[in-house]
Amino acid sequence: MQDAKIDIKSMLPEELSALLSDMGQPSYRAKQLFSWLSRDAGSFDEMSDLSKELRAKLSEKCFVYAPKVLRKQVSALDGTIKYLWELEDGNAVETVVMRYRHGNTVCISTEVGCRMGCAFCASTLGGLVRVLTPSEMFSEVIASERDSGLSISNIVLMGIGEPLDNYENVIRFLQLINHPQGRNIGMRHISLSTCGLVDGIDALAALDLQLTLSVSLHAPDDETRSRIMPANRACGVEKLMEACRRYYEKTQRRISFEYIMIDGVNDSDRQAKLLASLVKPIGGHVNLIPLNHVEERALKPSSPERIAAFQKVLEQKGVNVTVRRSLGGDVDASCGQLRRKAGK
Ligand code: SAH
Repeated sequence: MQDAKIDIKSMLPEELSALLSDMGQPSYRAKQLFSWLSRDAGSFDEMSDLSKELRAKLSEKCFVYAPKVLRKQVSALDGTIKYLWELEDGNAVETVVMRYRHGNTVCISTEVGCRMGCAFCASTLGGLVRVLTPSEMFSEVIASERDSGLSISNIVLMGIGEPLDNYENVIRFLQLINHPQGRNIGMRHISLSTCGLVDGIDALAALDLQLTLSVSLHAPDDETRSRIMPANRACGVEKLMEACRRYYEKTQRRISFEYIMIDGVNDSDRQAKLLASLVKPIGGHVNLIPLNHVEERALKPSSPERIAAFQKVLEQKGVNVTVRRSLGGDVDASCGQLRRKAGK
């Protein structure tokens, strides 16, 4: 049973060293092993510079997690690729590879489903099934890279799930993907998006990583935010903004605030002014996102005119603001459209 075996793709080189030395092996083998795992080796048999005996010993103790592609869709509009991976237990999650001029970016899922309940998002329909392991997240990046033949330079944790609701595994994933002996993707090339879990933001601040924190704000007042984002009911906007300030003061990294534009819900000039008063003092950047269509949801995107007017209010208040271009719309790969699917 794989359950009883060690998930070797979730292990850091230092841990591989300890494992190997317990097996009477020299520690430099850990480097070789980690390098294979970081290139998405699918089994120990592929690791041709390790002896047959060692490979056999390793496969007695450990398993190499290797996801299967259940479906691959390529957008005819912009070349965005959406993968549906089958996990070992039959669950499935989606990963999106986006091609930008500044480099290829992979958007990964962090959980099977989500328990945050946001009123506009497809990922939370059906709730949370389980969190993803570090190796599953690691593989989303390296298996996408291997299958697509594209080199990935940026990672966004903006797929299915709430990364700060799976904190330990997400941090380990970051250590795996960032490790100089492996994929070595710099923290400055990684963005983590959260619906605003205050304890998680504080824990992340304490680590002082150089990644970009994105906060899905979507409303500047508690009445609206609690209505569309149930997670807000626990803390409220004020406590969230205080955590953002602490994060900014500790890391000196500008926070990006995501703001979906929903017709008649959060797109008034009054809300734009309130939003400006929240983000301006901490130098936050605002990313306006026209609502993407989710079949089960009745909400509508704001009109382009309303978005432009909202943007203008923010600009007049001196806030740095951009409107997000949507990619992969024809294959339902845009923000909020990713959903859990049954595997088998
Ligand atoms: N749970 C994290 C990570 C998911 S990120 C978070 O909430 O940030 C996915 C991003 O897409 C979030 O900013 C989310 O609010 C946004 N999103 C969700 N549904 C959307 C929709 N229908 N249209 C546009 N963006 C959406």
